[in-house]
Amino acid sequence: MLKMRVNLDLLVLGGGIAGLWIAAAAQRAGYRVALLESRALGAGQTLQSQGIIHAGLKYALLGQVNETAQLISAVAKDWETAMAGRGDVDLRGARVAAEAQYMLVPGGLIATLAGAIGHAALGETIQNLKEPDWPAGLAELGFKGNVIAMHEPGVEIASVLRALLGQLQDVCYHYDPSAAQVKIGTDGGVASICIGDVELAPARVVAAAAYGNEWLAEKLGIKAASQHRPLKQVLLKGDLPHAYWHGVGGSFRPAFTISTHKTSGGETVWYMGGAVAENVEMPDAQQFRETAAALKKYLPKLDLQNMSWAALPVMRVEGYDPRGWLPDRPSYQQQGNVTLGWVNKLTLAPLMAKEVLEKLPVPSNESITPLPLPPAQIADNPWDHVAWQSI
Ligand SMILES: Cc1cc2nc3c(=O)[nH]c(=O)nc-3n(C[C@H](O)[C@H](O)[C@H](O)COP(=O)(O)OP(=O)(O)OC[C@H]3O[C@@H](n4cnc5c(N)ncnc54)[C@H](O)[C@@H]3O)c2cc1C
Repeated sequence: MLKMRVNLDLLVLGGGIAGLWIAAAAQRAGYRVALLESRALGAGQTLQSQGIIHAGLKYALLGQVNETAQLISAVAKDWETAMAGRGDVDLRGARVAAEAQYMLVPGGLIATLAGAIGHAALGETIQNLKEPDWPAGLAELGFKGNVIAMHEPGVEIASVLRALLGQLQDVCYHYDPSAAQVKIGTDGGVASICIGDVELAPARVVAAAAYGNEWLAEKLGIKAASQHRPLKQVLLKGDLPHAYWHGVGGSFRPAFTISTHKTSGGETVWYMGGAVAENVEMPDAQQFRETAAALKKYLPKLDLQNMSWAALPVMRVEGYDPRGWLPDRPSYQQQGNVTLGWVNKLTLAPLMAKEVLEKLPVPSNESITPLPLPPAQIADNPWDHVAWQSI
């Protein structure tokens, strides 16, 4: 059968934050780019994330103004620039859900952390707040202790995805990898990918497909340098204040981290990670009880009656680290014309896009005609599909 052969400068696999940012930046730079997504855009870790654009302030707070802190702080500025419409992608349509994160430090713990909190890093971006300046609703819930504001925004991920897709007309397509035929090139990379009658012949391929990178690695006859770390996030739905609150324990590793979202029906959801999400083997009912107890320690007046609970198992897919830790920058693996990439944090997507584009040859500046493939759609938020329970 006669195939439609399409030459591309760049084929991106995976439509999470990394793939979409790379595709949008590449298209803007004049590359002929297409993106293939196996489910829906954002359906992986991206829409499961808490949407916090880290600026390295946690490190500064601990007195560790190191390379990682500086790198993250620079990437956070790339988000700011993009959201102002002056970056490598245009995120003016993206919505900031919270301007700051609030660390809740119980009274007795402040002495342990006094050294860090007294550090010179405290300034305009990290502030120990007086009670009248606490975020709305916190004092009413009975919190006693110190509240430290960190100027790291929380973004509404779906709005980020819409803004990116808005720039990627006729670029993002849905396909079924199990029905695609991958032809291997003489360099051991990808010569072409056939989907039905369409043959995509890319000069370069970037796989930003999380577990899908393992699928492509297998086709290439290599082992993907990745690691999986599961979590079970906890969700609480009801009459709750807008919170981007982090319950600090004996260190800055939080007992819980709350981000706040709305369901499609307008109900408020606290989406919670941190220590409460670490024990993935724990039965849901026990996890809800333990989360309730952890919340009550910080927020004794929180009324948990009439609330609905849900658990969301998620899998973090990251570049391999020999210690099993989260790598502190994007990770890459090269085979022929293929780069397998793991962004490792939502925040780091602009850095990954920059590093990928730096390695591309000069753009062709040619346009491509739309492909006869179904367009990829944006996935729903996870809180619109979890099974709610009462306890
Ligand atoms: C609970 C949780 C909270 C988090 N909170 C934060 C946070 O607040 N701040 C932060 O900076 N980071 C956070 N992260 C990390 C962040 O979410 C991820 O690092 C980031 O979203 C990864 O993006 P990605 O595009 O690489 O992968 P994904 O979002 O997983 O996207 C991969 C895409 O590839 C698609 N795919 C799979 N197989 C194939 C295939 N064969 N072909 C084509 N497509 C395929 C998938 O359907 C998916 O859409 C969090 C992660 C989790 C799990």
